[in-house]
Amino acid sequence: MSSAAPLVVGVDVGGSKVLAAEVAADGTVVTTARRVTPGRLVEAALVEDALDLAVADVAKGRAIAAVGVAAAGFVDAAGERVMFAPHLPWREEPVRARLADRWGTLVVLDNDANCTARAELAYGSARGASDAVVVTMGTGIGGAVVVGGQVQRGRNGMAGEFGHAQVVPEGQPCECGHRGCWEQYSSGNALVRLARARIGHEPTLLDELCGGDPATLTGPMITRAAEDGDLVARQAFASVGEWLGVGLANLVAALDPEVLVVGGGVSAAGDRLLEPARAALRRALVGAPHRVVPPVRRARFGPEAGAVGAALLARSALG
Ligand SMILES: [Zn+2]
Repeated sequence: MSSAAPLVVGVDVGGSKVLAAEVAADGTVVTTARRVTPGRLVEAALVEDALDLAVADVAKGRAIAAVGVAAAGFVDAAGERVMFAPHLPWREEPVRARLADRWGTLVVLDNDANCTARAELAYGSARGASDAVVVTMGTGIGGAVVVGGQVQRGRNGMAGEFGHAQVVPEGQPCECGHRGCWEQYSSGNALVRLARARIGHEPTLLDELCGGDPATLTGPMITRAAEDGDLVARQAFASVGEWLGVGLANLVAALDPEVLVVGGGVSAAGDRLLEPARAALRRALVGAPHRVVPPVRRARFGPEAGAVGAALLARSALG
């Protein structure tokens, strides 16, 4: 790549962090920078300051040709406003135009799971697929639908919010205000809730890892305990994986994709999560013995997928 190549930056804005990445035309991540997200109870401008600092860290004084922003929230169909974001202060905010004014450059905006799908379609685990479903498992569940090689944004830009589909009537309460949402059974939050409930009732390495205080238990602690053979941790992964497979079966029943891609922080557990999901998918999918059951693959770009996909969208807008 010559030094004259235009600088394109992708920024993923999540509930806990901002990740900016310089992304080459072939999807390669050249350099990254991170900032903490200041939370949802602050002025929107403070979140935009965090974006600004992360992008400046990546640019290091060079002129920026385009920035793609992947936001953990509902982005309107025009790609102009963040309508609602559970973990950020944006409410019907014209984020795209404000950032374009701030930086004096081309800015594009989309939902973070949609951006993950773009990265995985172009260079990752869904490469070459016409029809795919992408699920991101972090604190909750995000999702994207690909039909005919295109991310489907829906009439209002809000397609793919699978995490809040109800799977258990009158089930676990969800932060969205409803009960029994899929993400209450299959997410980082679900993993922690399941493991935490058993601490103190049976022997587990988690006792020591959380220093005797179950309130401080985290997903990475459960991953570590599972790797060391801990039964409580392994059973928590088995349950979350099985619920993942049940939800995927519903998505396959609706959409008949050729591949299912699972990304987000929890997907770092790999087959410990995906093997029970594959088994549950085969059990739960209607007519499974008489149809093609799509493969369940881990996302290739891991935690950088949203930033990579946003940069690809920005690059395509450059023409
Ligand atoms: Zn919900």
